[in-house]
Amino acid sequence: MNIHEYQGKEVLKSYGVTVPNGKVAFTVEEAVAAAQELNSPVAVVKAQIHAGGRGKAGGVKVAKSLDEVRIYAGEILGKTLVTHQTGPEGKVVRRLLIEEGCQIDKEYYIGFVVDRGTGRIVLMGSEEGGTEIEEVAARSPGKIFKETVDPAVGLQSFQARRLAYNISIPNELVSKAVKFMQALYSAFVDKDCSIAEINPLVITKDGNVLALDAKLNFDSNALFRHQDIQDLRDRDEDDEKEIEASLYDLSYIALDGNIGCMVNGAGLAMATMDIIKYYGGEPANFLDVGGGATAEKVTGAFKIILSDPKVRGIFINIFGGIMHCDVIASGVVEAARQLGLTKPLVVRLEGTNVELGKQILSGSGLNIVSADSMADGARKIVALVQ
Ligand code: ADP
Ligand code: MG
Repeated sequence: MNIHEYQGKEVLKSYGVTVPNGKVAFTVEEAVAAAQELNSPVAVVKAQIHAGGRGKAGGVKVAKSLDEVRIYAGEILGKTLVTHQTGPEGKVVRRLLIEEGCQIDKEYYIGFVVDRGTGRIVLMGSEEGGTEIEEVAARSPGKIFKETVDPAVGLQSFQARRLAYNISIPNELVSKAVKFMQALYSAFVDKDCSIAEINPLVITKDGNVLALDAKLNFDSNALFRHQDIQDLRDRDEDDEKEIEASLYDLSYIALDGNIGCMVNGAGLAMATMDIIKYYGGEPANFLDVGGGATAEKVTGAFKIILSDPKVRGIFINIFGGIMHCDVIASGVVEAARQLGLTKPLVVRLEGTNVELGKQILSGSGLNIVSADSMADGARKIVALVQ
């Protein structure tokens, strides 16, 4: 789960990570009032969307007067911001962060991520702050330094110090930078983050170390123990179909293709997308209905798939292990009737009671194409949507 920059900064501040003063604003008037409250010669007006690259796209503006705050807030609020992370459709700006402008001396990159290779949290840093870290990694990988954290003892100060020296933080600011990294690490662990990225971390002309940007991602499997983080969810940022799917307890991820997929088990769902692509098709979604799919869940899944206007056909690929194929088949038939399905539907069932399941499908009178294997099903649906 993602949150906005201003929310991330609030969370981090409570752990002692130094951030500039700032306030969220939903209207131009609120933006001006917030800037007035800051009482700073320079205020920065920042678009709040769940994507980076806002600066380059015109979503971060430095205002030198309240009039300028008013102008920039008016320009940015309601605008569809297209950055390299939003996709071509962009994102509508509904919130602003009005923040104290600071005198930047130099920008750095600091981030904590989970390294799946070692199964540990890694601290990464670079003196090439402000730019995309992926770009730095591609262009000058030698400029990225890493420290792997031992979970038994946490981030050690010698590690933070080594990183600070490696990325050339000036000597007199190293101890501030070390405190900063340790506070960021505490927040990361405490809140079950999967990413905590500060890009840029800056040192200011008056000798401070500050997080000018903050990107926090949270492990959704741990959200149940962080009600405070759940409360920060911005529904406007979520895909509507994904919200609907979470109500039915389905794992659904929208994709760009035109073949809707309904599968049980994440591994089979991945394999199904692969085989669709292998036969020249494009999946419209990843969807795992889980092991205990009921007729109600199947109907819910159907509705979500069909609400995607890009979908031109559906491929159901289910292995009935714990679930019985006849139960699934009845669910599919019921859902197809209820929703008046007109698009091509290919069903591949395997497992317990498969013969009975197939009878239910063929006896339903509905236009359902039965497949004998995954490959057969994928070939059939790809042909049908063309
Ligand atoms: P994004 O990563 O989405 O482009 P950032 O928050 O990193 O957005 O802002 C982009 C750039 O704007 C920063 O690299 C920094 O140079 C400048 N900036 C952001 N916030 C401030 C601030 N409070 N004071 C001065 N400059 C800022
Ligand atoms: Mg940034």
